[in-house]
Amino acid sequence: MTSMDGVPDPTAGAGSPPATAPATHLDGGLVRRWIAELAQRLRAAEARLTELDAAIGDADHGTNMTRGARAAMAALAEHDEDTAAARLVAAVGHSLSRSVGGASGPLYGTWFNALGRSLPPELPATAMELATALGAALDAVQQLGAAELGDKTMVDALAPAARQAREVAGSGADLAGMLRIAAGAAEDGAVATIPLRARRGRASYLGARSEGHQDPGATSAAIVLDALRDAADA
Ligand code: ADP
Ligand code: MG
Repeated sequence: MTSMDGVPDPTAGAGSPPATAPATHLDGGLVRRWIAELAQRLRAAEARLTELDAAIGDADHGTNMTRGARAAMAALAEHDEDTAAARLVAAVGHSLSRSVGGASGPLYGTWFNALGRSLPPELPATAMELATALGAALDAVQQLGAAELGDKTMVDALAPAARQAREVAGSGADLAGMLRIAAGAAEDGAVATIPLRARRGRASYLGARSEGHQDPGATSAAIVLDALRDAADA
């Protein structure tokens, strides 16, 4: 192994695999690791997501998300190894829109699709480019679903993540560092939905009875971002 200027890397042992380092760019390989991690996380969280949706919805969010993850994995498998990140992310969006019913299918489909469309079409994305794309993806979800921050939806996780990503990328954070902050903000946002009254989606039919329960979509959105954080940290 040699470093960029051709000097041998003294830390590279002969025959040992290169040490993995936190990702500095979102490339096709990172998208694939993200979605594989996400599929695994969603399988593990399926019962919990369904339970959360049983409390304030119709108990299908866990199965909706695992169905989506399977469709996303199948969509990625149809693309060449060297397909750019932007194209892969948009393909995930299409697969979710096609395969997942309910409110969350089109909303997540739109989020991934807008994310992919906002990323640089050919080159791996920098932290700032990913932060910008997270903002564009949030805007697209809000345009489709009309949820504002505090309405007890996935927006309560996606919006703080996008805001924090932009803030820390603006102050020079690297991609993995930015994603740690963004994923933390999404998780905090999901937990903060507990006391809220739902104003969008099925849960809004419950009025005050939606209070005291964590929103399933905000919970899955935090998982989406934490899977990306995890993939970037590997
Ligand atoms: P459905 O509500 O159709 O059964 P899911 O159970 O899969 O679909 O997803 C429910 C989640 O979708 C909610 O917990 C909420 O986070 C999200 N959601 C519902 N409506 C909206 C909306 N208008 N904008 C943003 N997110 C929404
Ligand atoms: Mg549901």
